Amino acid sequence: MVKSRIEKLDNEIKNCRRCPLWKGAKNAVPGEGPANAKVMFFGEAPGREESLTGKPFVGRSGKLLTQLLEENGVNRDKVFITSILKHRPPNNRQPKKCEIKACEIWWRKQIEIVRPKIIVVLGRFAFDTIVNEGKSLSRSRGEFLTLNKEWGEQKFFITFHPSAGLRFVKFKEILRKDFRKLAKKIKSF
Ligand code: SF4
Repeated sequence: MVKSRIEKLDNEIKNCRRCPLWKGAKNAVPGEGPANAKVMFFGEAPGREESLTGKPFVGRSGKLLTQLLEENGVNRDKVFITSILKHRPPNNRQPKKCEIKACEIWWRKQIEIVRPKIIVVLGRFAFDTIVNEGKSLSRSRGEFLTLNKEWGEQKFFITFHPSAGLRFVKFKEILRKDFRKLAKKIKSF
């Protein structure tokens, strides 16, 4: 039942024309993972590799994400991985406010269907879009947060986007530390 709801939603996303981004993208990237996943990861938007394959986090950042999960004993297939935007912005430019607003309906529906225990927010863009409560990313990072009533008991775990770990060794080490903490929690379910 939940699986078929997610599949139906994937099709709606693939046919979405709510903003112009679909025109320049090769494929929509709704995300992938078990429909009853306990954990959902949200990045920013599909990049080149993701747009070509229709799969989330398959480029260099995705490889680091997979590595961070696996080195802590978490199988990538057990979690749901997606992003805030479902079509790639041209040349990986910053998404526009109107595009973010247009696409909001989809990530909200995904969370509503999957009902994960933890939502992992990767990087500034996803943080500003999902958390958006005047909180500071640097002070919230590495913590399990409970947000406003809208989200009930769902916990949010904030960390950097893996692309930051590719650019700076310092951030990679912080990501490693955060993923150790996150994996401990995931294994406790
Ligand atoms: S980016 Fe989002 S809102 Fe825009 S067309 Fe794609 S799915 Fe629709």
